[in-house]
Amino acid sequence: MQNDPMLDWQSLIAKLKTATRIVALTGAGVSAESGIPTFRDAQTGLWAQYDPLELATPQAFARQPQLVWDWYEWRRGLLAHAQPNAGHFALAELAKRFPHFVVVTQNIDGLHAQAGSAEVIELHGNLRRAKCSREEIIVAREDARATPTSLLACPHCGAYLRPDVVWFGEALPRAALERAVRAAMQCHVFFSIGTSGLVEPAASLPRFAREAGAFLVELNPEPTPLSANADLVVRAKSGEALPRLLRQLDSPG
Ligand code: NAD
Repeated sequence: MQNDPMLDWQSLIAKLKTATRIVALTGAGVSAESGIPTFRDAQTGLWAQYDPLELATPQAFARQPQLVWDWYEWRRGLLAHAQPNAGHFALAELAKRFPHFVVVTQNIDGLHAQAGSAEVIELHGNLRRAKCSREEIIVAREDARATPTSLLACPHCGAYLRPDVVWFGEALPRAALERAVRAAMQCHVFFSIGTSGLVEPAASLPRFAREAGAFLVELNPEPTPLSANADLVVRAKSGEALPRLLRQLDSPG
């Protein structure tokens, strides 16, 4: 494993010159430079007293739908002004250099698509959408039924709407997960970027990739459980490291 803060990219650049299939797994860290708090940072202000791990569950919504809905509405409000950062844009640009480049994201903010990434697999849903908590169908906000509180209700069955995100204890969308596993097992280079590597099953994707022979790169300012198994560890912010990688890849020689 190489672990050099000044980073000699040469082993990675050499791999990328011949690679045709790339996967980039991203987590909340990729959006940190867009001003969106990571889970660890999401306990600010009004919400400091709550554990996000306890708000992001179906049980919490069943018990206190208003509290959970309002927490997600606060997070959705943060998104309204958020813009993709240099890391998102560099990934979208990097993808154009390869025949197959898939972004597999745990993020629910939609910023990869906004930055122009063409192939994005959203493992945990999207905060901008809402769905019926009973029927699970997506409901546009303008079609939702109002309630006496800030909660919205399904126009068909009257059940409360919930954010279309995957909560702890819930299964991931099956088709998305299958595509992500297939991509991981077929890729030549796998990037794990801005994720703490603690949330399964996304956390297993780097291992699948490496076991199938991929070159594994971790990009994160902090150590994670994955660090020891990576072929290359880059201790930097994604908004700085990814544009630098792109420049190096494009430079002649
Ligand atoms: P996490 O909050 O557990 O970990 C974030 C990781 O990003 C940390 O390892 C941290 O060191 C790293 N990081 C911080 N700033 C960085 C930067 N500038 N560049 C690169 N890395 C940086 O997030 P996770 O691993 O994605 O898992 C937590 C869950 O939280 C996921 O399921 C995700 O859906 C959800 N989540 C999503 C968002 C979002 O959509 N933006 C925000 C918060 C949480």
